[in-house]
Amino acid sequence: MLNPADERFVSTLAAGLPDGTIRPPEPRYLEEPRGRWVGLAGCVALPRTTAEVAAVVRACQAAKVGIVPWGGGTGLVGGQVLPAGPAPVVLSLDRMKAIRGIWSSENVLIAEAGAKLAEVRAAADGAGRLFPLSLAAEGTCSIGGNLATNAGGVNVLRWGNTRDLCLGVEAVLADGSILGGLKRLRKDNTGYDLRNLLIGSEGTLGIITAASLRLVAPPPVTGAALMVVESPAAALDLLAMAEGLAPGCVSAFELIHRTGPEFLAETMPDLRQPFPQPPEWLVLVDMGLPNGLSAAEMLEELFGMGAEAGLVTDGLIAQSESQRADFWNLRENIPEANRLIGAISSHDVALPLSELPGFIDQAGAALAAMGNFRINCFGHLGDGNLHYNVFPPKGASRSAYAGRADAVKELVHDIVHARGGSVSAEHGLGRAKTGDLTRYGDPSRVAAMRAIKAALDPAGILNPGAVLG
Ligand code: FAD
Repeated sequence: MLNPADERFVSTLAAGLPDGTIRPPEPRYLEEPRGRWVGLAGCVALPRTTAEVAAVVRACQAAKVGIVPWGGGTGLVGGQVLPAGPAPVVLSLDRMKAIRGIWSSENVLIAEAGAKLAEVRAAADGAGRLFPLSLAAEGTCSIGGNLATNAGGVNVLRWGNTRDLCLGVEAVLADGSILGGLKRLRKDNTGYDLRNLLIGSEGTLGIITAASLRLVAPPPVTGAALMVVESPAAALDLLAMAEGLAPGCVSAFELIHRTGPEFLAETMPDLRQPFPQPPEWLVLVDMGLPNGLSAAEMLEELFGMGAEAGLVTDGLIAQSESQRADFWNLRENIPEANRLIGAISSHDVALPLSELPGFIDQAGAALAAMGNFRINCFGHLGDGNLHYNVFPPKGASRSAYAGRADAVKELVHDIVHARGGSVSAEHGLGRAKTGDLTRYGDPSRVAAMRAIKAALDPAGILNPGAVLG
């Protein structure tokens, strides 16, 4: 049983650290993007060094006080907010943002955990390199949060998840010891892979303080197209065609259902929409090619092949970088439109690629039988990851449907599970999906996870209640 970070604990903690490290909790540290939970905190700790993080952890360990790590607060499953129980210390990495070094010839960058993803990308760009992790929240989320959630984003198809882009982590463990793993190695087979254990552990096994990250050479020629496809099955055939035409050069392949542009028209009427009438299904294809090739020509060829095969009926090929940015703007604003409309239940699911069309048909039919809902299905089709969000009908409020959220979630997740999918593709389990781990998780795997947690954090001070419940 943990103790609260009460006044006495907070003042003792503050006395042992430089002035300004321990502060009363500002509201932003207790909120999450969809306003679904409000967090508790006895104080916020804002360390500037790994040694200060370790000092906070040691004090919390001694007093059995919980710690909730906080990166940028953009997590969508409630991992960064603890809404009930003894008030924890929220440990923000906001003041640990340094880029500790860039080795361009090695394609390596070392960043502190509080650096925003956009800052890491800009630092790589400044050195003529690309850090390929990219997501709509990149101006706000931190690289530590990305690692803690093993974030995905739009370029997984080509460059992998955050895990694939990380060579090593430095972290503070629950006993306050510092795990120094900032190696710049591609190969290191010296026993258990603690880096990969910490990545995706959502702050429950350690606090990531810095990471060495893998960079790539930016593709010299880039381009994008929006293509109207007949169906999700046609979109998958088009993806296979694109990968055959330009192997290894398809950077992103995003599926967009009509509901996305409709929500954008409803919530952001000034946003430029490429099609006057939103098509039923669209894909956004982004390519990065070697010198000497034309992206527009490659995408035209793909369009021609797709049209001939009856997969594609219309399309727009970006003629400039600004048009390419407009296409991405449409895609990247969909999560914000969803937030403004207000979902009853949001699902971040992954399926084997060939199961995707069947899942979309089956879930749509099952939800139609249950009630009158609007569904916004979009996401990273190239990696089998859909954001399948269920909304009340137009004009109805989300609160009127709150009582149905659990039934909707269960219905969608049951179908995903039965088709061999995952109920958390890229957002993690946080506190929102701990029940899903028990419902769908392999019992042996869950038992091993509990044993690892008990070994590394026996008192359970690190992010209490997240992941394992
Ligand atoms: P936070 O929200 O602060 O924390 C998330 C979790 O990580 C919490 O459990 C927290 O305790 C833990 N944590 C944070 N920092 C550390 C640390 N240094 N050490 C240990 N634990 C830590 N996610 C995707 O994967 N792909 C997307 O395409 C995507 N798009 C998004 C679009 C929008 C508009 C929004 C709002 C979110 C999106 N997300 C996406 C979700 C979110 O941005 C990611 O999960 C991101 O990785 C969280 O980073 P953060 O710094 O905001 O972490």
